[in-house]
Amino acid sequence: MNAADDTNSEKAAEYLRLTLPLMSRHHVPAIPHNYAVWYTYVSGENPALCEEIDRLIGAGEAFTPSVNAHLYRRFISEQDLGEVEQVRSELGVLIQEVSTSLRNAGKDAQAFEGVLDNFAGDVSDCSDLKSISSLIGELIDETRNMRSNTTTLHVHFEEKSREIENLQEQLQAERQRALSDPLTGLYNRTALFEHIETAIAAAEPAMPPSLIMFDIDHFKRINDTHGHLIGDRVIRFVAQTLQKNIKGQDTAARFGGEEFTVLLPNTPANGAMAVAQTIRRIIETAQLVRADNKKPLGDITISAGVATFRNGEDVMDFIDRADRALYRSKKDGRNRVSAAG
Ligand code: GH3
Ligand code: MG
Ligand code: MG
Repeated sequence: MNAADDTNSEKAAEYLRLTLPLMSRHHVPAIPHNYAVWYTYVSGENPALCEEIDRLIGAGEAFTPSVNAHLYRRFISEQDLGEVEQVRSELGVLIQEVSTSLRNAGKDAQAFEGVLDNFAGDVSDCSDLKSISSLIGELIDETRNMRSNTTTLHVHFEEKSREIENLQEQLQAERQRALSDPLTGLYNRTALFEHIETAIAAAEPAMPPSLIMFDIDHFKRINDTHGHLIGDRVIRFVAQTLQKNIKGQDTAARFGGEEFTVLLPNTPANGAMAVAQTIRRIIETAQLVRADNKKPLGDITISAGVATFRNGEDVMDFIDRADRALYRSKKDGRNRVSAAG
């Protein structure tokens, strides 16, 4: 950690210390959404948010659940995930501080007990029993005080770190929700972009990531014939098939309606083509039936396009090449896999 990082951590810890009391003063429940709003307010990083909160306080408005939700939606959720991430990592700093204080408190207590032991040794050399016994009495009282102070301190810190850990867990859950698709449980498009950035940054030049883009063939027909609920089930079935047939660092995402991606870090084009073909075949041979009347849903197929990252290429261009390869698969008759040019 350099000096600038130290200053940043100190600042962050200071913001954190100010945030919770401020929230409690304004009767704002300490849930992650609110926390993100008030942390940002304390940090002064979002002038529009500061202005709005100052206005509400000035007007004596109550921070009702709907006001809080509005603040979150307007000033935080539409920002990028960086904010949540920042709060999360700063909570980590605070937890560390708390545990350091705990350890120091433990050391103080031990040092005090050491002093006491020495004193007991010295006292045994004295002959004035009365004063010795009163001194010992005093010291015993002091020791008890010290012990109970330390216990209070321990309880206080334990409580604080539990609170903070809870907050951190909630933020973690919040982040997971923000990155996942509710219908399928796969990652969503936001997560895909993050994963691509990470895969590119971590890749050896000779081992770039590959991206497969899938689209269900004639999906409109499935919806039209069986209705949207069955359509949703088919989307879930394809999602599960992707999830089951990838491994290691590979990630599957729902890119949009009935379009999916599989990102394969450190995977050359031929490896990615093989994965895409395997998944395509599994879907092609599956015999899906309607849960209600056990009637077959008919053939369900998917088309795919595969692109392998080119050094220096923009993320959007990378995705676009996979998409254009997918389009070729559609044009060439569907239920097939094409490699990007
Ligand atoms: P193609 O083979 O060219 O892909 O034909 P298609 O019919 O699949 O065409 P397209 O990909 O353009 O159609 C997507 C359709 O998927 C349109 C939309 O009504 C439907 N859809 C998108 N999202 C959902 C969803 O979440 N649930 C359901 N049931 N349908 C969806
Ligand atoms: Mg489509
Ligand atoms: Mg389609």
